[in-house]
Amino acid sequence: MIQWILYNQLHHDYVFDEVERILVLHSCSSISTKTSAWSISLNIYSKVVSYAAWKAFVDSAKDGDFLLSQSREESLFDYCSLYACTYLVVMDSCEAYVSHRLHRLKKTLGDRWITLDIRPNTQFLVSYNECSQTFDEPPVMESFYRWMRKKTDILMDDDKPQGWKRNYDKENRKFDRTFTDVTHLGFWESLFWQEACEYYQEDIALWGKELQPYIPVTRQESLLLLDFFVHQHLDRFGELEDAMYTTSDFVYHSLLSIPLNFWLLTPEEVIVAIESADSAINNKEWCIRQILGWREYMNQWFHYYKDEIYDQNFFNHTRDLPYRFWKPDKAPETVKKMTCMSHVLDKVDRLWYSHHIERLMIIGNFCLLVWYNPHHINKRFWEQYADAFERVVTPNVLGMSQYADGWKLATKPYVASANYVNKMSNYCKWCAYNPKEKYGDNACPLNYLYRKFVDTNKETFVKGRQSFIINHLKKIDSALIDKQTDDFIISLDRDAKDS
Ligand SMILES: Cc1cc2nc3c(=O)[nH]c(=O)nc-3n(C[C@H](O)[C@H](O)[C@H](O)COP(=O)(O)OP(=O)(O)OC[C@H]3O[C@@H](n4cnc5c(N)ncnc54)[C@H](O)[C@@H]3O)c2cc1C
Ligand code: SF4
Repeated sequence: MIQWILYNQLHHDYVFDEVERILVLHSCSSISTKTSAWSISLNIYSKVVSYAAWKAFVDSAKDGDFLLSQSREESLFDYCSLYACTYLVVMDSCEAYVSHRLHRLKKTLGDRWITLDIRPNTQFLVSYNECSQTFDEPPVMESFYRWMRKKTDILMDDDKPQGWKRNYDKENRKFDRTFTDVTHLGFWESLFWQEACEYYQEDIALWGKELQPYIPVTRQESLLLLDFFVHQHLDRFGELEDAMYTTSDFVYHSLLSIPLNFWLLTPEEVIVAIESADSAINNKEWCIRQILGWREYMNQWFHYYKDEIYDQNFFNHTRDLPYRFWKPDKAPETVKKMTCMSHVLDKVDRLWYSHHIERLMIIGNFCLLVWYNPHHINKRFWEQYADAFERVVTPNVLGMSQYADGWKLATKPYVASANYVNKMSNYCKWCAYNPKEKYGDNACPLNYLYRKFVDTNKETFVKGRQSFIINHLKKIDSALIDKQTDDFIISLDRDAKDS
């Protein structure tokens, strides 16, 4: 029997016992999704990482093949004919649009006398069935996470949370003014990476920059990264999780999203490594919350709302996101002068990565405050980040960051003025704008954009029990805020027309 391994299922323990050969198909240029009806162009970094990871996976298998494929059906048919095989097994995909295609393929291959045996997906710690038996619809994340802790017995002493606290919010999310940077594991220029770069040399030349191989592409490299994170960075992960620095690309973040998304590491093994680490409970709980909580929660959330989320636009924001938005050197002058934006855009341009708060509270916040179309933003996040997969990018962008669903994921819109950025980063220190000023040429744009946004959407904030935010509006000069916001938006629109 032959097992077809899908692009994000690279874990040898999950090759089924009775399998004699494995097959990985390479067809990676653009992705058309059933759910969003878009064609997504993957960035060059994602292509190189995928190619290298697939090559490494096949290379370490006893009997495996890596095939370039134009048509999945034809490639599978030819491959099965070569080995006189009429029974192909595959694990179902955790990506909805891929799963949909697999089931279509099962029928067409069946017409050609090949059985495609689609086995249940086991890449997450809780299945859709199990979750739906407990909850009619996704609950708030905190309730889901408590349920997951009980279900998996992680960080629990019998029925009680370890350390007697469920949440260590107070110990975490700080800003250390003395921090500059910390060492990360470094680079893996493995043979697989080099081979992938050779394969994509034309695209890399078009890109015009060198790719930095800071992400593991093999199982061994991924295990090394996990070990390094647990021993070197876990102790300060929670404390500086939300902090942002011009001097540090990664702070203490784990960089585990790609190994987890490709299944080079399973969530179980990451959580076990963190739980058994010699570190204070607040560090361990905070990190486990991200994987056992947020990662699993977003997966369930997307599964539940996938058929409606792409039709939603709660604030009715329709401003086009210009293509050059993600090209920091081509940004309008008004944006270039914003250190927070230009720093994060530059990082994404170099590394196809930025950490969570930079995605949510810098880029996401800015896009929401200037009324960009949330669906354009989602598409561009998907194309721009190395770890983007539909089931995770869409709930994070459309649900958490842009509030396109209105209340279903977040209880309030994640918006902020310069006050937040100044508290959590050193960006404002190096900025041409003044974070304390509300009006005038030097005023931070986030200050008037934020006030305009709150003023326009008062009802949403009242409903989200944030009336205190509206009280601040009493002290502002609305006419001036309107004028500054209009001028700023005009500077962005001018840019959109030019591009
Ligand atoms: C607007 C926006 C877009 C995002 N797009 C993606 C995406 O395309 N792919 C992706 O994997 N993550 C995405 N995230 C979630 C999160 O930002 C990244 O997983 C994280 O920044 C990856 O870096 P890290 O591995 O160093 O994470 P760490 O900060 O070290 O966190 C550890 C792990 O926790 C998990 N995690 C934490 N938060 C989330 C979350 N909100 N949703 C799902 N998993 C989470 C990830 O597996 C991550 O690797 C997005 C978040 C936002 C706000
Ligand atoms: S002053 Fe405003 S624009 Fe400048 S870094 Fe701070 S928040 Fe960003």
